[in-house]
Amino acid sequence: MKDNRPVAFDPPTTYNTLMQTVEPLSISMDSRRPLLEVAPDDLAAWLRERGQPPLRARQLRRWLFDGRAVSFDQMSDLPKRLRDELTDSFRLLGCDIARHLVSSDGTHKLLVRLRDGQVVECVLLREADRRTVCISTQVGCGMGCVFCASGIGGVVRNLTGGEILEQLLHARNLLPAEERLTNIVVMGMGEPLANFDALLEALTVASSPRGLGIGARHITVSTVGIPNRMRQFADLGKQYHLAVSLHAPNDELRNRIVPTNDKTGLSAILEAADYFHAKTGRQVTYEYVLLRDVNDRPAHAGELTKLLRGRQAHVNLIPFNDVDGLPYRRLSQQALDDFLAILRDSGISVKVRKRKGADIDAACGQLRRAALVESEPISARGV
Ligand code: SAH
Repeated sequence: MKDNRPVAFDPPTTYNTLMQTVEPLSISMDSRRPLLEVAPDDLAAWLRERGQPPLRARQLRRWLFDGRAVSFDQMSDLPKRLRDELTDSFRLLGCDIARHLVSSDGTHKLLVRLRDGQVVECVLLREADRRTVCISTQVGCGMGCVFCASGIGGVVRNLTGGEILEQLLHARNLLPAEERLTNIVVMGMGEPLANFDALLEALTVASSPRGLGIGARHITVSTVGIPNRMRQFADLGKQYHLAVSLHAPNDELRNRIVPTNDKTGLSAILEAADYFHAKTGRQVTYEYVLLRDVNDRPAHAGELTKLLRGRQAHVNLIPFNDVDGLPYRRLSQQALDDFLAILRDSGISVKVRKRKGADIDAACGQLRRAALVESEPISARGV
């Protein structure tokens, strides 16, 4: 049987580009379950059956989350026989890296290959003392926002909690030994609140001191706006941060840009966001992707200020990143300055998102899409 276990990954020192060839994507025939897919009770029972003390589960966790292990064999304080048995029964990691790009600004982008050959994107951003990972929660996306590359082929499947966590581990393993991940943004492919249970499973481990120890306050979940799920998210009683992808100040325009708005409507989303604020005390961020001549006019900015006035809101303006094949364009610098000034002048807290990884197609879903276009095996599957 082919050994599909991942190997330690050396970050490339030179800049990769999309000229790099994509390896053919194979579906793994390995039937061993990745360790993060094994429920803690099942692992405890498995260890008990082999006469192992409960402390072994803790050791395994430490190797994975702190020790950066990529194989059971590296776990030098476990008996050799146990390491062999673990290797026969499980894989330490189920995903591997199909592609690794490094931008001239230091942004890393990974195309992470899942066990069934599907790929998702994961981005590592390094800025001052922050090390932020942007993770995906679904293969593709079912929300269909008209300007977004992730939604072009619809949603293929949800990721498991283990697959969401493994993206964090692969990104973390790129950092020098003395650095740790500080922030998570769930802004990669997919709609996180449409894969709620797996999302929470992964974030619980990521934020636990027994997992990656990234404080809930440093974890942001971005949603298209699913009101009942936003309320459930608020009811968790955690300090997670919520970002809502607004993109338009009225229903008529939002229905055209964000098709799911037709059924939801802006007011239900804003009420759920207010509920989140009331319940958690945390300010909600509203994301607004600026599309030239679509939603970037001063009148839109004026309407947006009316909508958000009196709310505990922060606005993140995101100049559109061009996506091949889509008819939308980035707005002009002048239009951006004008839009920003209108919001600022009315006292709204607002920032423009810095462009990161522009030379490696770091916007949502673009790299996977490029790989799909280049790679026959996947496009033949009708994705
Ligand atoms: N489904 C979630 C999270 C994923 S997208 C959501 O809708 O929020 C994360 C953010 O990136 C969203 O605000 C999304 O609208 C934005 N985005 C997607 N494609 C983009 C592009 N080409 N340029 C700029 N922002 C984009």
